[in-house]
Formats: sequence, structure tokens, C-alpha cells
Amino acid sequence: VVHGGAGAWQQERIGVGVEGVREAAKVGFEVLKRNGSALDAVEAAVMQMEDNEVFNAGLGSVLTIDKRIEMEASIMDGKNINAGAVGLLRDIKNPIHLARLIMENTDHVFIVGYGAEKLADLFGLERRNPLTKSRVQAWREEKEKLPKTDRLSKLHKLIASYPRIFESETVGAVALDKSSNVAAATSTGGFTLKFPGRIGDSPLIGAGTYADNECGACSATGIGEVAIKLVLAKTTCESMRNGNPAQKAVEKSIRLANLKMNGLSMGLIAVDMSGRIGAAHNSPNLCWAYMTPD
Ligand code: ASP
Repeated sequence: VVHGGAGAWQQERIGVGVEGVREAAKVGFEVLKRNGSALDAVEAAVMQMEDNEVFNAGLGSVLTIDKRIEMEASIMDGKNINAGAVGLLRDIKNPIHLARLIMENTDHVFIVGYGAEKLADLFGLERRNPLTKSRVQAWREEKEKLPKTDRLSKLHKLIASYPRIFESETVGAVALDKSSNVAAATSTGGFTLKFPGRIGDSPLIGAGTYADNECGACSATGIGEVAIKLVLAKTTCESMRNGNPAQKAVEKSIRLANLKMNGLSMGLIAVDMSGRIGAAHNSPNLCWAYMTPD
């Protein structure tokens, strides 16, 4: 199951969004068909979307308020609850791949900025300028609309006044393989005009990404601050651990977000250990796709 972000997708972008997630679901599923692991599948699906500038991850990442790129990503293997995460990346081609290398080659889980980029060099990873013309244009348009004040607006106020800022097409994937292993991955540029240094839910294990073979896997999208406060990906996995099928688990988590966080925009995808899938959102849209042997 893959997602290309929760938010209000503009009508003219829906077609390319759906096409992008369909492609990514196919890429991930092909890996599983060739007996690849769930981990390989989610990484491949997310890399596919990081390379597709329609989405806000890798190429096509959105810009901070001071016009920087700060990409973040995380990946988790349900087999051994190993996890890797990166943040504050400027130009690494595939942040999710670096997250995986950190998981597999270091004793750490989460490395950001200079250190992460240094590791990327050690691993010989490709770099690429993720800036696209349309993101620069969107940044300019949205920035002009911002009130000319030094104070930071509260999230609710910002969303009410500038809904387009939060149309951020973050990507994620969850998978279950033939050996009954699950995995999850999430990658993003954050949201347009975010404060520099702001870290969202996407690279945070438990908030944006979680996988455990004892319950299932989940990837979140939407207003990161909601998923962080509610530890939403892990909450969804715990719900599956308690016997809820994936769909019920994601719906319960979205209800929780509505209850506790005043309905701030969220979307979730999940898979449980029986291969049942789930997708739910309280945002106007969630761009997602899935593929099963049937
Ligand atoms: N969750 C991401 C963040 O807050 C944005 C998104 O999912 O669209 O950075």
C-alpha cells in the first residue's frame, strides 16, 4: 500500500498523483513477487515516488520559509524492529535509501544534516538538486500571502488562512511479504514555508512510520505535529496488535486525531499480519494505491 500525501489535491493534479501512486504500488509489488522482502518493497516504492517530481519527497520537495530544502525520511523493518531515519537533507537523491543504510550500517536510528550528508558521501550516494520550477513558484505565491509579521502564526490559523501550504504530497509505503514480514517507509520535504529546522512526523519512528511483525505496519501523512503528539503510526500498530484489522485501526486513529487535535488534516495507510489493508483520512483527499496478489 502506498500513499502520495493527505491534503486538498487540486483537481488538475489528481490524475498525475493517482498515476504516480499506481506506478509506485506496482514497483513495490514487483519486488514482493520476485521474493523480495517487505523492506525492499517499501524502499523501492518510496524511491520511485522520490524520483517523481509530482510528490513532495526527493525531487520536488517543498521549500522552507527561507527558501531551503530540508528533506526527511524513515524506514522500519518489522522483522527485528530495526529502524533508520534522516532529516535536514539538502540534496541527497533518495533520502529513504540513506535512512536504510543508516539502519543497516550504523548503531544509530536518526541522523540529520551535516552528519547524514557526510555518511551519504561515505556510502557513495548520488546527490541531486531537488528544486523544481513549480515548487519555487508555489513558494513565491504562498510567501506573498503570508502576513508581514515576525511572529509565528499558530497552526490552526495558518491552515484556515493558507490551506495550500498544507497540500504537501508526502509519500509512504507499507508491505507484507511472503515470509510474513512487514515494513514501512515515509519520505517528505515537509510543508511549504515550514520554519527552518522544523522536523515533522515523517522521520520519527512511531509518529510517521512504524512496523512490527507482531502487529503490522503503518505510514502517516498530514500535519506532522498531530502525528507526533499522538504517536500515530505506533498507535495504529498497537490497535492492530489488539486484534483490529488494518482498516478499523486506521479509522480509530483518525477518530483519535479528530477528537484530540480538532480534526487537523491526517491520512494513514496500514497493513496487518493477515494482509488486510487500511487507508483513512480526515483531509479532503488522500492519494493512495494498493496491490495484492488478486
Ligand atoms: N507529515 C508531513 C509533515 O508534517 C507532511 C505531509 O504528510 O504532507 O512534514
